[in-house]
Order: sequence, then C-alpha cells, then structure tokens
Amino acid sequence: MAEPTSAPQGTDRTRRRHLPILDCVPIERGGRLGAAPERAAGLAPPAELVDAWTRRVSYLRVSLTDRCNYRCGYCMPTVEPSHLGREQVLSADELVTIIAALKQVGVRRVRLTGGEPTVRKDLIPIVVRLAKLGLDELSLSSNGERLSELAAPLRDAGLSRVNISLDTLDPERFRRITRHGSLERVLAGIERVRAVGFPHTKLNTVALRSFNDDELGKICRFAFEHDLTPRFIELMPMGSGMSIDSGGFLSAAEIRDRLTAEFGPILPILDEQPALPGGGPARYVGVRFGHQVRRVGLIAAVSEPFCDTCNRVRLSASGQLHACLGYDEAMDLAAIVRSGPKAPCDCAQAVVAAVQAALVDKRAGHGFTQSGCGGPQKPMVSIGG
Ligand code: SF4
Repeated sequence: MAEPTSAPQGTDRTRRRHLPILDCVPIERGGRLGAAPERAAGLAPPAELVDAWTRRVSYLRVSLTDRCNYRCGYCMPTVEPSHLGREQVLSADELVTIIAALKQVGVRRVRLTGGEPTVRKDLIPIVVRLAKLGLDELSLSSNGERLSELAAPLRDAGLSRVNISLDTLDPERFRRITRHGSLERVLAGIERVRAVGFPHTKLNTVALRSFNDDELGKICRFAFEHDLTPRFIELMPMGSGMSIDSGGFLSAAEIRDRLTAEFGPILPILDEQPALPGGGPARYVGVRFGHQVRRVGLIAAVSEPFCDTCNRVRLSASGQLHACLGYDEAMDLAAIVRSGPKAPCDCAQAVVAAVQAALVDKRAGHGFTQSGCGGPQKPMVSIGG
C-alpha cells in the first residue's frame, strides 16, 4: 500500500481532493484517457511524474517475482497459483531500463518486493546494478526466510534498508499463517540483518482479529528489544484478502486500543524525534517502553486511507505498471521495453510517457471497504504488496 506522510513538494494542496471510503463504489477516474500503452507513443515525455490529482510520484515498488516460499492466507490463493513463465518475468536488463528511465523523472526511492524477492536467483546482481543508479533509497521487503544467507550480500551489493514481515511470534501460528514457514529461520534472519548493520529495520505485521490480536504488545516488545520499529497493517480486501472472513479485519482504532491496554495512553511523536527514512504510509504513535517513548507504525489503508498523499506506483514482475493498488488495470511496460530490434530497447522516453499516461488515468483513491468489496481481483502476490 501507499506510504506518503507529507505532501509532495510543490503540490498545490488546494486542488487535492479528500477521499471518502465509498461502499462498493469505485472512486471516479481523475483522468481523461483510457489506459492503453499505444497512446503513450504520441505523448511528449514529462519532466516529472504527476497524476491527475496533482500527486507527484517519487516512489516505485518493484515486484521481482510472483513466487514466494510462503503461502500466507491473506496474500496467496489457497489453490496453488499458476506462476509467470520465465520469459514473462522482466529480466535484470529490462528492470534497470525501466527504473533508470523513471529515475530521470523524479523517482527517488525504489522498494523491491515480490512474491518474495529473495527467491529470485539474480537478486544480488540486480541490487548491484540498481544501487549504481544513485537513488536516494533502494530497499527490500522480505518474509525473512532467506535473510540469514542474504543479509550480508545484500548489504555489500548496496541495498539501503530491509523491512521484514512477522505476523506472530508463536511457532504454531506462524506455520498456520504461512503454510510453509519456519519462525526460527525468520528470527535468525532478523538477527543477521541487525548483525550486518542495516539501519532502521521495520517489522511489518498484518493485524488480524482472532489470529494475532492478542500478540500486538508482545510483538512490539520483541521489536523494541531488537531495535526494530513495529508496524501494524490493516488487512486489505484484495485477492486472497477478500477470502479471509471480514470478521478478521482489525482497524487502526482497535489496534490503538490494544496498544493502550498494553502500554498505557498513546503518546504523540515529538518533533525532536527524527523522522524515519522511508516516507511511507505509516502513521506513527508513541508508546511508553521503560523510560523511553518508542514508535509504533499503523498502516490503515482501509479505515484511515492516505490516498490523498499517494506518491507511488507499482511495477509487477511481468512488467505491468499499476498506478494504483486498488484496481486491476495496468499499463504494459514489458511490451515497450521488448519492442524494437534489440532488447531492452533504448526507450526511456516511451517508458516515461507510458507511465505518465497511466497516471492521467489514476483514480483519486481505492474503493476498499471493510466488508471486502471494491478491491482488485488480482492477488497481492501478483502485483507486489
Ligand atoms: S491511491 Fe492507490 S496506490 Fe495510492 S495509496 Fe491509495 S490505494 Fe494505494
């Protein structure tokens, strides 16, 4: 989901629309064009990427693969999904071509996602090449299973930061939610990430009623004791998330109530506490932990949406540019970089023009609802969360 916490520089806030959550009614398109890659060819490349609602794009989430070594119920379909063929997945050359083009028009931060990005065999060479582009931040989201082996090579390759998913500290629950996972291996991966010196590591937990809502305090304590920042994420009603009984949804307000019961009154984050890198969608609250006030992030895409400050787009493993996570529509960038006599083509301008065309069509916000209607049909694992 989206992560902005502040208005993009230079945005005219008076033109921005504030976004209600509408029950089962997709929010209207902001743009004037239908989504079709061909039309990008006739457009002059912009100096920067701005959508129809004057939101500037500076953040790209890149799914390196639609495969994962886990099968978390809210992300993967219960039946084994059909995966992309090798030839459908963007190659390292194609990825670098697209990302270098978008860097020229203001994309400053890139996050590598999946599926699970660490199952991609050429992950390290990809990170080496992307790190040379001179982005402000190149980060990765992982389930942690392979970080014991990969943390040091990733750091040496030039990765800036890592976020790790951890939905429970109970080994049996962990096996149940991941269907394949080993809590022991993830904890070892977390230790390795700390040991090799990655800064500002965040621990991401999808908060689910009657699954882990009794563990929120325990997960926070674990994070604080390991110098990590815990973040709780609302379940998003898309793909497999729709199949989870809507009774499992836990709102940010309820998460704050749980934190209050554990740590006492929620505290504001003081100005002198420096902002965390990432510029993401999490809104941070403070909780008292010993003599300190520690941060806890809440990513409340459903109950407290942050679409009005959206600064991101997503690139799927098959090269589909999703202007918004909330809809299935996408622009086919793979077709662009694979056109022409040599692949990837020398096509930065066409890539930029295609992305700008998709942004013209970007909706003001998602249509997620707590009852599960309004989200895209694609599973999160195919878009990249
Ligand atoms: S506009 Fe779309 S991509 Fe941006 S925060 Fe909202 S749902 Fe996420």
